[in-house]
Amino acid sequence: MKPVIALVGRPNVGKSTLFNRLTQTRDAIVADYAGLTRDRHYGNGRLGRHEFIVIDTGGFEPDAGSGIFKEMAKQTRQAVAEADVVVFVVDAREGLSAQDHEIGKELRRLGKPCVLVANKAEGMHDGTKLVEFYELGLGDVHGVSAAHGQGIRDLVELALEPLNLPEPEDEQDNGEAKPIKLAVAGRPNVGKSTLINTWLGEERLVAFDMPGTTRDAITVPFERNGQRFELIDTAGLRRKGKVFEAIEKFSVVKTLQAIESANVVLLLLDATQGVTDQDAHIAGYILESGRAVVIAVNKWDAVDSYQREQVQRQIETRLPFLKFAALHLISAIKRQGLGPVWQAIAQAHKSATRKMSTPVLTRLLLEAVQFQSPQRAGMFRPKLRYAHQGGMNPPVIVIHGNSLEHVTEAYKRFLEGRFRKEFDLVGTPLRIEFKSSH
Ligand code: GDP
Ligand code: GDP
Repeated sequence: MKPVIALVGRPNVGKSTLFNRLTQTRDAIVADYAGLTRDRHYGNGRLGRHEFIVIDTGGFEPDAGSGIFKEMAKQTRQAVAEADVVVFVVDAREGLSAQDHEIGKELRRLGKPCVLVANKAEGMHDGTKLVEFYELGLGDVHGVSAAHGQGIRDLVELALEPLNLPEPEDEQDNGEAKPIKLAVAGRPNVGKSTLINTWLGEERLVAFDMPGTTRDAITVPFERNGQRFELIDTAGLRRKGKVFEAIEKFSVVKTLQAIESANVVLLLLDATQGVTDQDAHIAGYILESGRAVVIAVNKWDAVDSYQREQVQRQIETRLPFLKFAALHLISAIKRQGLGPVWQAIAQAHKSATRKMSTPVLTRLLLEAVQFQSPQRAGMFRPKLRYAHQGGMNPPVIVIHGNSLEHVTEAYKRFLEGRFRKEFDLVGTPLRIEFKSSH
């Protein structure tokens, strides 16, 4: 499970600037996809080998009376409750304010590990200006500059340190086939618990009674047709005895964590409701995570042919960025269409972990170039020389050559199409990166 860092502080101290800095690498990837709705308040960050989730809380007005402020405070409290550590941001230039005191009091009351940072501290070398923040009673204050990228690495290290995280495992396989980690994601009431209980109730599917592993995460290992799986039950679900139950409150953080720790995500939609904003948000997180994905539209038994057509059209228009995913129409209650979903999950996993050798990739690349070479851009003609695999789940293909920054988006998509076809990649995003030698 990725640790969760919540950014808290009064308005204008630089929380969203800090958020952007912590999450910028992922943003660049997501920006490629038109039509992707995205909640700006949750993002993925990485520092060296450690990955984490960042929440930018809307703003904390502890005693805000009513309306939107009250709602914001409520959401901030939920974010703090779900976080492993809080980064309390204050403004080094403006100094300590009454509102900072209020927030500090609230944070002390909530008792979460807390790192105090004074932002906008660029050029403040002696630190005398920061001394007043010790009054907050939250320990050391660390000067950073979100805008200039100063002190950010230390900040993340400080935040993660008390969590005693184990070093992330290497994804290298040791010969033995690993279980497929599967998360079922979807908003409340789409039928997640019904589907999972139907699955786990099937005799072909052997569930092992074994308590969970790391921190909150509970996984249920089981086997189906000789393939081992691990079902991650944090996507709005909790295990209760032998069955799964939806937890009362939908949690974006839990959904994100489940998606991030999965190999394959089953995105469950509800045919009777169509594709809602919340579905599109969840779909966006899945895309951003790079995980393999299968889409299943549940409650197919409860809709007429007009509604069926409507839902399929909505998926095309609202989730165009998941075009690579297989789509299945199912009824969890009537146990219809479930077999093909398993096949799609296995296929998505196979695609996501496919090994592609440098000679084969390079041959395919050169064939593609011969079929259609990239356009000249002014004086430059991109020259594609060779390709190697840069990662798995999602597969990454790194293409080397010259003037590759002039390769168009359209040409990149052309290459992606060729690679997908040749390697039979279904149900996984494929990332293509370019590395120019000059
Ligand atoms: P938020 O309301 O807490 O999310 O604050 P924003 O991220 O929107 O930042 C508020 C203002 O502070 C903006 O004008 C930023 O450009 C500015 N700001 C953010 N970080 C820094 C910094 O490190 N140094 C300086 N000088 N200004 C900053
Ligand atoms: P969760 O919140 O995503 O776990 O959703 P639940 O599994 O609790 O299901 C929500 C509601 O949808 C319940 O009333 C289920 O009986 C109903 N439901 C689940 N699957 C189906 C289905 O395939 N067809 C129909 N008609 N209803 C379903």
